[in-house]
Amino acid sequence: MIRNIDINELENAKYYDANDMARLESNECSGCHACCCGTGDTLNLDPYDVYRLETGLSKDFKTLLAEHLELRVADGIIMPFLKMDKKLTIGDVTENDACTFLNDEGRCSIHASRPAICRLFPLGRVYEEGSHKYWLMENECHKENRTKIKIKKWLDTPDFAKYETYIDDWHAFTSGITRQAASLPEDQLKALNMAILQYFYFLDYDTNRDFYPQFYERLEALKSN
Ligand code: SF4
Ligand code: SF4
Repeated sequence: MIRNIDINELENAKYYDANDMARLESNECSGCHACCCGTGDTLNLDPYDVYRLETGLSKDFKTLLAEHLELRVADGIIMPFLKMDKKLTIGDVTENDACTFLNDEGRCSIHASRPAICRLFPLGRVYEEGSHKYWLMENECHKENRTKIKIKKWLDTPDFAKYETYIDDWHAFTSGITRQAASLPEDQLKALNMAILQYFYFLDYDTNRDFYPQFYERLEALKSN
């Protein structure tokens, strides 16, 4: 989904805040699923994505992993990614690397629970000094006549202020791990990765409780161990 990005595009990009308007609205993507196929290893899930899937699909993490996700390493951290192994034929066109959640009509079957990276597209996030901005990947969505929409509305995420704080905190945590990863002995890095997987993914969330207190409880518990 966020692949083959020319660095010049990022250097020249215009940055947005959540309350800014950007040309994103694509008429609910009707007739298109281009960004749900052939995305390789770009679609990783953060803990809130997993909470959303567990809540929306009424499945625990182990079941999601068996059916729709796979573990891969990104920047030294083992994380769940969407499986991109569905064979999808629509008319004369067959995709062999479609997202596991595309239905036979080429529509997202989990729209209300889709991960943040899918909600963002064609936006990306850039992080700086403990915060983040959004930028529009001008050449990634080919739908014409996109109209303007407020970014906050496009992301369609409740408790948005809490969400943005969480995103910065999660990024600070993972980028700290990434910095450590290069210098940690292999056994320590493995133990750290197992702890991250256990605390933030395998230990199922209480879907009747708000996500954020659970996340911060786990973050504190992991840091104190
Ligand atoms: S490429 Fe654009 S129009 Fe097509 S599915 Fe993705 S966001 Fe929607
Ligand atoms: S979860 Fe939905 S929106 Fe995201 S890549 Fe899969 S089918 Fe597309």
